[in-house]
Amino acid sequence: MRAPADDAPRFEALFGRPSRVRVRAPGRVNLIGEHTDYNGGFVLPMAIPQQTEVELAPREDRKVRAFSANLGAAGKVDEYELGQEKRGRGWLDYVQGVTYVLREAGLTVGGFDLWLRSDVPLGSGLSSSAALEVALLRGLREAFGLTLDDVRIALLGQKVECDFVGAPVGVMDQMASSLAHGSAALFLDTRSLQFERVPLPAGVEPIVINSGVTHSHSGGDYRVRRAECERAAKLLGVEQLRDLPDQDLPRALALPEPLGRRVRHVLTENARVLATVQALRSGDLAALGPLLYASHASQRDDYEVSVPEIDLLVDLARSEPDVLGARLTGGGFGGSVVMLARTGSGAAAAARIATRYDKQATHRATVLVPQSTPAP
Ligand code: ADP
Ligand code: MG
Repeated sequence: MRAPADDAPRFEALFGRPSRVRVRAPGRVNLIGEHTDYNGGFVLPMAIPQQTEVELAPREDRKVRAFSANLGAAGKVDEYELGQEKRGRGWLDYVQGVTYVLREAGLTVGGFDLWLRSDVPLGSGLSSSAALEVALLRGLREAFGLTLDDVRIALLGQKVECDFVGAPVGVMDQMASSLAHGSAALFLDTRSLQFERVPLPAGVEPIVINSGVTHSHSGGDYRVRRAECERAAKLLGVEQLRDLPDQDLPRALALPEPLGRRVRHVLTENARVLATVQALRSGDLAALGPLLYASHASQRDDYEVSVPEIDLLVDLARSEPDVLGARLTGGGFGGSVVMLARTGSGAAAAARIATRYDKQATHRATVLVPQSTPAP
């Protein structure tokens, strides 16, 4: 169900006419700044080469007919009527959510036929959901002449998950999918939505490895973490944890378990994003690795969002001399690991790590970045 089926039917075979619009949006990897977005903090994601591709054509009526090549060659066309969106139809909720939030925002679209395909792995912390939302919103913008800028597209995508799908996500994924491109990281203040593109120094390249353990954000754990942060902010008398000064950490640590540790993760993670941006700008490669490893330890111990398979990948990174640092990326409870390696060494190091992981873990690793992997 996860990888797109190469023998899945194309748009024209399914709908009996060519598509009118064809657009894409990338998945993302977060370099650092995890679980900070819904606390009003800082994040530093990048686009990945894997993308979601959307083809669509407007219809004369108010029907939406949708097909995903990721659901296999035997996948079927799902259907609903505009204005009759109802949650609880699996992957179609992401499509229904898009037309639902557009209507709520007063933006008018007619019916359409939709075909989509993604090579972003689903449920692996690389944000296939935001790639779907952003690609579809881009497609509808073009097909129906909607006035929407890229930030508005990101905000509407976030509303799809929060208001329709029922996954209370922050804004990072959609901002990254809508605004990040090339090899620059997107340094984003999730409160003001101010952003800046920060290129990686020539000496480093990213590695992204999928652990094969999938997660679900609408599932309980992510929601619990978010609620813990909101409770801690309330008890500490701030609107969001972003507003808590570092010197108030002792006060936070006196809160009932585990709230203090959750706050410590958010405060230290925000500081690590700022330090990482500084290190990238000044080309201080030696500073990068410890920041990534510290972020991982904080996610594992204070925020408790890692799993043994992810910890194993991070540990395997440590035995690679050209890998500077590694950490869990994305919401956690499975998913993927991001690493920074010396330029030119990433592919071979990633292949060695994946091979060792496959011997020790019950899941299989997939190297997503760099894209082509030579034998180790
Ligand atoms: P992530 O965003 O980390 O990949 P999510 O749980 O947020 O994980 O989103 C994954 C869900 O999004 C899938 O289970 C599916 O319902 C939907 N989805 C994303 N991309 C596609 C696709 N190409 N085809 C069908 N459904 C998709
Ligand atoms: Mg998602």
